[in-house]
Amino acid sequence: TLLDGEPIIKLPPKTIRLSKVDFSTEERAFYTNLEADSRSRFKAYAAAGTVNQNYANILLMLLRLRQACDHPFLVKDYNSDSVGKVSAEMAKRLPRDMLINLLNCLETSFAICRVCNDPPEDPVVTMCGHVFCYQCVSEYLTGDDNMCPAHACKEQLGSDVVFSKATLSSCLSADVDGSSMNSQFTENSMILQNEYSSSKIRAVLEILETNCKMHSSMECNGSSLSSEREYAENCSGFSATKHTIVYSETPVEGPIKTIIFSQWTSMLDLVEASLNESCIQYRRLDGTMTLSARDRAVKDFNADPEVTVMLMSLKAGNLGLNMVAACHVILLDLWWNPTTEDQAVDRAHRIGQTRPVTVTRITIKDTVEDRILALQEEKRKMVASAFGEDQGGGTATRLTVEDLKYLFMV
Ligand SMILES: [Zn+2]
Ligand SMILES: [Zn+2]
Repeated sequence: TLLDGEPIIKLPPKTIRLSKVDFSTEERAFYTNLEADSRSRFKAYAAAGTVNQNYANILLMLLRLRQACDHPFLVKDYNSDSVGKVSAEMAKRLPRDMLINLLNCLETSFAICRVCNDPPEDPVVTMCGHVFCYQCVSEYLTGDDNMCPAHACKEQLGSDVVFSKATLSSCLSADVDGSSMNSQFTENSMILQNEYSSSKIRAVLEILETNCKMHSSMECNGSSLSSEREYAENCSGFSATKHTIVYSETPVEGPIKTIIFSQWTSMLDLVEASLNESCIQYRRLDGTMTLSARDRAVKDFNADPEVTVMLMSLKAGNLGLNMVAACHVILLDLWWNPTTEDQAVDRAHRIGQTRPVTVTRITIKDTVEDRILALQEEKRKMVASAFGEDQGGGTATRLTVEDLKYLFMV
């Protein structure tokens, strides 16, 4: 996309801000506990020389720490029943030993999602015995020709052949277990309730409020066009250049719209609850939605001036989606592979964007997020200097023993 060293299309500038937020006292206490526990377990693996054998376990510990930075509630192992209502019928028809086999696949500590390479959120297993996040595999259930996304597995998939733990165990009429969480976290602490507003969520609401005030103060100064007029002009499509000049001299056109990304749908749920409370209109986009529902969400977000927020799963950041109505992007959590984050930001920062784009990454001070940021930085440099780019998304992101030691501060 370069011509004589100059980009062919000049996009408005993009500013990346890092907002480091403090935990509340209760959140800090919870996190410190969790971190100490994981560190001592990691140390034991390292001392025994079994880090590689326990890689999945270690990833899970890191996942818990990352999630605790978003909201302690995410760390709680709650049974999601959103998964696999359709598959219950199918499961009933399977022989018992097959059900047991599939359940074993889900319960093994080595279960890592074959799409995102992280410990799975709402884990499901396919008939071929491969484990995924429900959201990750959903991407492969909506098309016409659905194949298992696990490497080298060409098994045919349908929505009735992915099974959650709850479905399988209820079929086996075994006790549905909800007690896989360490006892130290099952106490009824207030921060483990989903009504609790975490520091990150409060930071998001502050940003949204500031954006809203900024916009309305601009409007009072008379420097902004009314949104109706603006849309009329956009639709008329003639004398476009004249309008472009007008726009570039006018700092604000219409409300400041924001895309909020998280990799966990459960985090999006929690943000959603806070937006409802604050009467902020939003749409949502995640990998479990049908294509037509996604389409509608994007259209509403781009066209309806009342809808100012898009809640979006980092895993649903399809390359094609165009959301230039947004000029603010908030990244709630860090992804191992920075390329995925860059692609997410490009939903808003792309052809058609007329305003400068602000990206805010919200992280929590003195946590594993500091160290993930540092690893990302290293990775960005590596990718930039390497011949072949790491386009594989998750596949090349296996962490080395050195990385892990650094992450656990051992
Ligand atoms: Zn996944
Ligand atoms: Zn498979």
